[in-house]
Amino acid sequence: MTARIIDGKAFAERLRERIADEVSTLKAQHGITPGLAVVLLGEDPASTVYVRSKAKQTVEVGMASFEHKLGAATSEADLLALVAKLNADPTVNGILVQLPLPKQINTDRVLAAISPEKDVDGFHVVNAGLLATGQKAMVPCTPLGCLMLLKDTLGDLAGSEAVVVGRSNIVGKPMAQLLLGESCTVTIAHSKSRDLPGICRRADILVAAVGRPEMIKGDWIKPGATVIDVGINRVPAPEKGPDKHKLVGDVDFASASAVAGAITPVPGGVGPMTIACLLANTLTATCRANGLPEPYLLETAV
Ligand code: NDP
Repeated sequence: MTARIIDGKAFAERLRERIADEVSTLKAQHGITPGLAVVLLGEDPASTVYVRSKAKQTVEVGMASFEHKLGAATSEADLLALVAKLNADPTVNGILVQLPLPKQINTDRVLAAISPEKDVDGFHVVNAGLLATGQKAMVPCTPLGCLMLLKDTLGDLAGSEAVVVGRSNIVGKPMAQLLLGESCTVTIAHSKSRDLPGICRRADILVAAVGRPEMIKGDWIKPGATVIDVGINRVPAPEKGPDKHKLVGDVDFASASAVAGAITPVPGGVGPMTIACLLANTLTATCRANGLPEPYLLETAV
């Protein structure tokens, strides 16, 4: 079998177009421009690129982008003061504090200070709790993007055996909650799980969020399964030349794509969905803040 490639890049593009349409309707009918504030401390190269990309895409869909770049030595008190200011600012509908934060800052305290209604990353414990209890939450962007791709690929997920490898608060756990919400039978595997290949082989839906390059092999995959590879790992690529690197996922794409029914590539699978879902969450937060009906974006990007 040769797996169908799930094109996250194309899906994310369609989703952004749909968001841009909704934003222009909001502006025309209600005079509202959604605003996203992104806070970056220091100059970590990966975070800087990511923040730049977020700001560019925010503006491209017609939203207002507020960038706050602070020094790496910023105190926690100063960062909390900025968060409080953004919480109170009616032109800001979404607040994102780029992680990781410098050592002098307690990340949990900063995330807890963000108003849950503006927590477009979905990392606040209130949003984690709402998601876990099946209530309306801000859903973390990467798992939300994975769910969109799964629903687009498979339609109704109810009754499927789903295995999520990884139990982080930002990917694995919320992914499992979303799949449970879709009535899948969900297993969460992690570094202490016994017989990981055997657990993975049960999966109709396999989501890999591990951070170990190409760990999941083709013979761990049930024939015909749908595989979502969240991993982004930078590895040496001597075939491209000395000191060259490439990105690979947590799944060994070559062997897995010979067995799976559908699979996301890396790059071009889950990655592009994350920022698109950040914009979707900002739109959702704006509608909720203004008492307007929320656009249903889960299945409308197709
Ligand atoms: P974390 O490091 O927070 O979590 C990794 C999880 O994988 C942990 O639960 C860990 O288990 C588990 N794990 C590690 N090694 C093994 C192993 N050998 N066998 C089974 N489980 C294992 O990572 P994140 O969740 O933040 O990210 C996961 C991957 O997804 C990374 O590659 C990251 O770069 C990528 N990512 C991609 C995004 C995107 O936009 N596409 C966004 C966010 C992340 P334990 O809990 O027991 O330690």
